[in-house]
Amino acid sequence: MLWPGIRKLGKELGFKRTNSEIVGKLKNCFIKIFDGNNMKVLEIFKSEMDEQDKEYIINILKQKKVKKYEWITNGVRIIFSEYIRPYSIVKIKEILFILIDYLEQKYYDIIPICHRCSIEKEADVYFIGNISKYLCYDCFKTYEKELNNEYCQYKQLPTNYFSGFIGALLFSFIGIMVTVLLFVFFQRLAAICGLLYIILGIKGYKVFKGKMTPIGALIIISVGLIMISVGTFFAYSVMILMELKTTDINILKTILNIPEVKNELKLNIILSYVISGFFIILQLFTMLKDWKFQKNILKARDI
Ligand SMILES: [Zn+2]
Repeated sequence: MLWPGIRKLGKELGFKRTNSEIVGKLKNCFIKIFDGNNMKVLEIFKSEMDEQDKEYIINILKQKKVKKYEWITNGVRIIFSEYIRPYSIVKIKEILFILIDYLEQKYYDIIPICHRCSIEKEADVYFIGNISKYLCYDCFKTYEKELNNEYCQYKQLPTNYFSGFIGALLFSFIGIMVTVLLFVFFQRLAAICGLLYIILGIKGYKVFKGKMTPIGALIIISVGLIMISVGTFFAYSVMILMELKTTDINILKTILNIPEVKNELKLNIILSYVISGFFIILQLFTMLKDWKFQKNILKARDI
């Protein structure tokens, strides 16, 4: 997401945009600016930077009362923390220009290098997912080919639905133990259990090499739905056995056959489904989105 403040700055600087950043070349530096969680982030890349440059940057940041920064490969990441109000774009711009003016004067003949082949040549901004890169045309083409190959290989992988199903089932048993513990200690079913079965199911499915497709997602959800009932039934049974201080399964059977007990159990199972329903639908969409997402390398767009 690109917020209006940063978008406006991007337009002003003649930058391009990806899904979440403004990016571009300014005075022979490669620049990225984006919104983070309660912060704005400015990254300045320059293939050459020595200790003196670092000292200069630290001094400027001190003067401008910016406390957070870190050194990254060939550059610096400056973090502008935001508490209640958003950090002033004017101030960010001011700091950006002080630093790149300095770098330009010192390294006037060094242009940004391609992020892949590290050669100084005509390049442009591309992005894969949320990561933007400064690439020459040859490297862009190579990336494109690699991503296509990766996708073709993925499509050809065996589906392994059955082993995936077994994996989801085995991992879900951990969820049952948690349900039992929650029920015994807190006398109630936590809404988290439904989500837990799905998360464990996904983990188990993947560990057992099940391929994530819509059918895979359905397998995981089905296992989760079954486990919600099984888990509630187990938890309920353990509760009864503990209350009666017995391990006699026949007594348990008799009690579970009492209509009031049966109804209460049913009610608990229905409640678990209602509470977990939202999480399950959400997870289903996430899994389908993962499946649909074919990684592409795209040219950064105009703002
Ligand atoms: Zn290159």
